[in-house]
Amino acid sequence: MSIIIDGTKIAQDIRRSVREETLAFTEKTGVVPGLAVVLAGDDPASKVYVGRKAKACAEAGFLSREYKLPADVGEAELLALISDLNSDRQIHGILVQLPLPKHIPTDKIIAAIDPNKDVDGFHPANVGRLVTGSPLFVPCTPRGIMELIARTGISLSGKDAVVIGRSNIVGKPMALLLLAQNATVTMCHSKTKDLPAVARRADVLIAAIGKPCMITADMVKEGAVVVDVGVNRLESGKLAGDVAFDEVAPKTSAITPVPGGVGPMTIAMLMRNTLDAAKMTT
Ligand code: NDP
Repeated sequence: MSIIIDGTKIAQDIRRSVREETLAFTEKTGVVPGLAVVLAGDDPASKVYVGRKAKACAEAGFLSREYKLPADVGEAELLALISDLNSDRQIHGILVQLPLPKHIPTDKIIAAIDPNKDVDGFHPANVGRLVTGSPLFVPCTPRGIMELIARTGISLSGKDAVVIGRSNIVGKPMALLLLAQNATVTMCHSKTKDLPAVARRADVLIAAIGKPCMITADMVKEGAVVVDVGVNRLESGKLAGDVAFDEVAPKTSAITPVPGGVGPMTIAMLMRNTLDAAKMTT
């Protein structure tokens, strides 16, 4: 019997405990955790994500500020805003919604964020800390996946984990977190030779590709744990993951659905990271 990992429920539990901890923290210290979200341009998906983040902040008892900038915002203007937010004592977490407009150098903007306010965990200093095993802020999606795995009671030590996708946001930090829990990790990407054979070795398979239903039953070992990070909008308007859920689920010991698996965890972990950032200042 496969466990369908209920990310919606687990994310709600985390958000509830963040709220309770925030109430106690604010009462004790007088500090209200503050998150600034910077959105440049009018990408519709980004607007939806930013709206959800503001709602989650309100629910958690945080201060939230949104900075909506036009798509033709200049690099200097964006850097000046980041600099202001870095020194703003009401703001503990800064999130720059990606993707940025093409003319803006994303790496330079991320590097300008104070690493102690980098609640997305994308700053090179935080990436370095994750690599060397002393993480400060861990990117929210992989952190959320680790939480899903832990709360489902899955042990990773000695397991063969295969991560498909090597982005800085999901694949790479995911592999490092699995390694830190003593999994034997293989990373795959678009140039991997015989992907089905590599995927079939996985006790834990993480799909972070962005290709609807690419992971089929023949690519999955009997009893594997499968985590589907993919969020793909089909022509029908429906959401699909990277995993062909209906055929893969019966082979697994546990699997995350789309929607309702990894997705809700990302915002829950953003709330957790922001509260952690506020606590660091007291
Ligand atoms: P990217 O596009 O940055 O990375 C995709 C990765 O998949 C790349 O490393 C690419 O390889 C690899 N890939 C593409 N095609 C293949 C293939 N045929 N075989 C093997 N590997 C392949 O995506 P992200 O990491 O940002 O996101 C991945 C998915 O996760 C997307 O669907 C995204 O929407 C979703 N996502 C969901 C989140 C959530 O909160 N639920 C948060 C973030 C992302 P190469 O490097 O060689 O090009």
